[in-house]
Amino acid sequence: MSQTLLQKVWDAHTVRKLPNGQTQLFVGLHLIHEVTTPQAFDMLRARGWRVRFPERTIGTVDHIVPTRDQRRPFLDVMAEDMFAALERNCRDEGIRLFDMSTGSQGIVHVIGPEMGLTQPGMTIACGDSHTSTHGALGAVAFGIGTSQVRDVLASQCLAMDPLRVRRIRVRGRLARGVYAKDVILEIIRRLGVNGGVGYAYEYAGDTIERMSMDERMTICNMSIEGGARIGYVNPDDKTYEFLRGRPFAPRDGDAFEHAVAWWRQMASDPDAAYDDRVLFDAASIEPTVTWGINPGQSVAVSEPIDAEPDDEALAFMGFRPGSRVRGTRIDVAFIGSCTNGRLSDLEEAARIVQGHHVAKHVKALIVPGSQAVSRAAEARGLHEIFKAAGFEWRGAGCSMCLGMNPDKLEGNQVSASSSNRNFKGRQGSPTGRTLWMSPAMGAAAAIAGEVVDVREMLEGVPA
Ligand code: SF4
Repeated sequence: MSQTLLQKVWDAHTVRKLPNGQTQLFVGLHLIHEVTTPQAFDMLRARGWRVRFPERTIGTVDHIVPTRDQRRPFLDVMAEDMFAALERNCRDEGIRLFDMSTGSQGIVHVIGPEMGLTQPGMTIACGDSHTSTHGALGAVAFGIGTSQVRDVLASQCLAMDPLRVRRIRVRGRLARGVYAKDVILEIIRRLGVNGGVGYAYEYAGDTIERMSMDERMTICNMSIEGGARIGYVNPDDKTYEFLRGRPFAPRDGDAFEHAVAWWRQMASDPDAAYDDRVLFDAASIEPTVTWGINPGQSVAVSEPIDAEPDDEALAFMGFRPGSRVRGTRIDVAFIGSCTNGRLSDLEEAARIVQGHHVAKHVKALIVPGSQAVSRAAEARGLHEIFKAAGFEWRGAGCSMCLGMNPDKLEGNQVSASSSNRNFKGRQGSPTGRTLWMSPAMGAAAAIAGEVVDVREMLEGVPA
């Protein structure tokens, strides 16, 4: 019988059906970090339990890591304690930890794919909402809470509710200056922030097929912002080539080809049935910017804001119905995060920045998603382009995506941010205001000192 990737992966990992209707699923890979694990390990210890599959558990540090000076001990005592707890727990349980000394540290959703840990047909869990990122490689990847982290540590299993599948097909060519970030913002705007509740989002269509793996990760990363439990793209030749030669992918030729054969048959069958189907036209998508305090409150950069006058987001953000986000003065530009902190994001931002300088009143940060991204960018000289333009070139981490490290907004600063959450206080100041956009739009805003249309800055820049 024809099946979707979700059904195939689900069936292959089912341990048993539970009396309450949930399914006990085996988790192939458990990614852990310093923020959602200390309590989970404490709960494990309190029961006298050990980690069931330490070899299927991988740790890194990202959320609380300072990006300016990463020497230990950190000045922030709480951050240092969290890091030390993760080190201790990994050492005690025999779990591999990718800290800064390994050269492989980075945001958990960046290092998984880049090391080949994330593979098609796999089930993955991590105590972070944006675990959906890993679906870009055809994995079924769940963001989980602390008590579920405990469950996975103890049993390598999760109790999950069944999911429906919505096929989101995007067809046609994106205009120059329109990126994966704009596509997913448009999808969330149209389907709503709760539109995906109870669903897995399967992204398909020629636009998605043409996207690089980095771009597919941006799309899947933000599935959760549209309410979907997971997002995925069916694996294809681009996926297999991305994985070839990566440290945790099968290394020798026969093993790799054997894996590819299995990965290939995990893709959704052409005549699989879906619970819902939606079609998007890529050509109609413009550079998109959020104006509000949830991911669905966005607008094409050329359009006025369409909102009710009493919408509290308007007052908080300083807009009125009919205002345009274009022309909004910014104080901070942040390019990074697990949504847009990969090499291709930095390359595109550098293309905009080259030969220009950051506006005098703007603080601009480039934060690579991992040490590997940082090395690759430096090998291409991108750090010199950014520094010459007045950007700060930082160490790898979550940085200004959330206010858990020294990179924070101050007062009611406005940030042009390539991150993935815009609720009040997300970037560290209760009154700080976040405008989400693509890294290219963020780079353009840093130069202009205000939100601009990146398509105009790209005129004259070689494609
Ligand atoms: S970059 Fe942001 S969303 Fe991604 S893992 Fe870090 S804090 Fe979470």
